Amino acid sequence: MNLNRLSSTKRILIRNLSNIPGWRTNRKIVVIESDDWGAIRMTSKDVFNNLVKAGVPISDCRYNNNDSLAGENDLTSLFEVLRSVKDKNNNNAVFTAVSVVANPDFEKIEQNGYSKYFWEPFTETLKRYPGHSKSFDLWKEGIKNRLFIPQFHGREHLNVTAWLKALRNGNADTLLAFKNRVYGITPRAYLSNVSYQAAFDIEDISEIVYHKEVIREGLGLFENLFGYKARYFIPTNGPFNNQLEKVASECGVKYIGTSKIQLEPIGNNKTRKVFHRIGQKNRFGQTYITRNCFFEPTDKSKNWIDSCLKEIEIAFRWGKPAVISSHRVNYIGYINPSNRADGLKQLKIFLDEILKHWNDVEFLTTDQLGDLITKSDS
Ligand SMILES: [Zn+2]
Repeated sequence: MNLNRLSSTKRILIRNLSNIPGWRTNRKIVVIESDDWGAIRMTSKDVFNNLVKAGVPISDCRYNNNDSLAGENDLTSLFEVLRSVKDKNNNNAVFTAVSVVANPDFEKIEQNGYSKYFWEPFTETLKRYPGHSKSFDLWKEGIKNRLFIPQFHGREHLNVTAWLKALRNGNADTLLAFKNRVYGITPRAYLSNVSYQAAFDIEDISEIVYHKEVIREGLGLFENLFGYKARYFIPTNGPFNNQLEKVASECGVKYIGTSKIQLEPIGNNKTRKVFHRIGQKNRFGQTYITRNCFFEPTDKSKNWIDSCLKEIEIAFRWGKPAVISSHRVNYIGYINPSNRADGLKQLKIFLDEILKHWNDVEFLTTDQLGDLITKSDS
């Protein structure tokens, strides 16, 4: 449902109703989930301009305009804002950084005539970008200081099957983007309804065999890079066949992020509606976490500070934690410095307002929230 199209009274009513089911608490918990860390998205301003000039339809997309691997300046400035506010337990604000851990190895894929897929850890990708060579040290510093706690979004933010197929078929826009070391576009002549960004979407159910390998490898690399196992998994773009929950569980994932109304792809362009509520468990004992608040200031269509404060108020009214979605794109200035400046300015005001409205607020990460929910069950 597109809440933006409805009248504001209806929107508020729906927002209230959707907060009724599920786990409750008297505590005023705020979790900020920020997706896409580790993924390439746009490589530079020049590449963006080249693709626009060639007619690739990316200019309306806020991600392709502004989102890229976080440079040293991006991370340093973000941490400064998060560190500047403290909750009632004297803890600073913290991002649950929902991350991918790899990107395509474009050279090797090219050398193999697009017949085979190769990936590299995102820490290798960082080495090729100016102003990024110390980024991973900053990730580690963010973890140590509890400002930025990575969890799992996927191995890469890419549907390998759909992308390779388009490359092998000579799809012009996909090939041009490839030459510029970019994959996150929607080509003009597309072959499939599967978005390149949606790693776990499927055309045929047999593809989940490969997705199991992607999850296993991705979670293994996650542990190697960060020194701990990911416990929370929110699949890229949402599409995800629930048979994959088993392999994620075997690899240590305890908490799964999903929409309240999940559209589970089951193959042949078909989806099944699955309803979720926060705190609900699946057959592997994993707990679902659903988002109920949104803060996306790069999208200029509304005042996100006001709307998100309202959403937090509704969440607390129904005894729910505020689980806020706020993508990486809002805080990146590598392509457009003004994008980062504006996003961080709004984040600072927003965090200050949260503390002004609710002085008993607590900033938690998603895995801490998950632990609290499961502890209260037992
Ligand atoms: Zn994402």
